[in-house]
Amino acid sequence: MSIRVDNLSQKYGDRYILKDINVEIFPGEILGIIGPNGSGKSTLVKMIAGDFSLTYGLIKYEGISLNKYSLLDRAKYRSVVSQEQNIMFDFTVKEVIEMGIIGGYGLNFNSEVWKKFEIVIKTLGIDKYANRSIRTLSGGELQRVHLARALIQIWDKNGYPTPKYIFLDEPTSNLDIGQELRFLNFIKNEVNRGLGAAIIFHDLNLAAHFSDKILLLSRGYVLDFGPPEEILTPSLIYKAYGLKVKVQKKPFRLSYLH
Ligand code: ADP
Ligand code: MG
Repeated sequence: MSIRVDNLSQKYGDRYILKDINVEIFPGEILGIIGPNGSGKSTLVKMIAGDFSLTYGLIKYEGISLNKYSLLDRAKYRSVVSQEQNIMFDFTVKEVIEMGIIGGYGLNFNSEVWKKFEIVIKTLGIDKYANRSIRTLSGGELQRVHLARALIQIWDKNGYPTPKYIFLDEPTSNLDIGQELRFLNFIKNEVNRGLGAAIIFHDLNLAAHFSDKILLLSRGYVLDFGPPEEILTPSLIYKAYGLKVKVQKKPFRLSYLH
């Protein structure tokens, strides 16, 4: 069981945005994706989600090529929160979250799903906005609505006997520190119950804390891949970000030097 990316390359015009990417995402694990601005993180996640067709390589869900899956099959298998969420219409918070429910379960969702829905929106602190138009929300409120939609789409009360995945592109960029940690802990808990996750992290300390493995991208290439303590080293961080850091081992902590 896994999502597998083999020799993925992506070109826009004559420029490679991604080159020779190999990575595998497993149920019960968080893959953290890090790398400087423009290194290809968002493109990679969109491609794994199946939102773009790829130039070279192969992406497989459970051994089956992604392009064999219908849109609906994909929606049952994985949910996505991308960096920019464009919903043009004047939906309410509840309607947006229902899109996730319908995407993941079809129209036959049951009371269990609704119970979970209540927990998810409470955890994210958006229960009081349920009937508001999403156009009236702040950036952080809107982000939490999309996180709720994605969570409910793939949530499985039985602990994910059929594999499900969530892909999150800098999911907490608009949240305060309390909301951020509550949300990431919620995800971690689902991952411990069997969900698979790929999360693009901006904050390297959060990446270290929450990831089981880290993929470090630089200019479209995989600079390195492995457990956090092997990837978040001063030399690799310097190579990728041009930034000097000090690493403290226990508890793991990066400090930025000048
Ligand atoms: P990151 O998420 O790591 O900041 P992106 O994946 O968004 O990086 O972008 C990687 C590179 O690809 C950037 O240089 C960006 O300008 C370019 N890029 C992204 N999308 C497109 C596109 N549709 N057409 C052309 N170039 C793109
Ligand atoms: Mg990005």
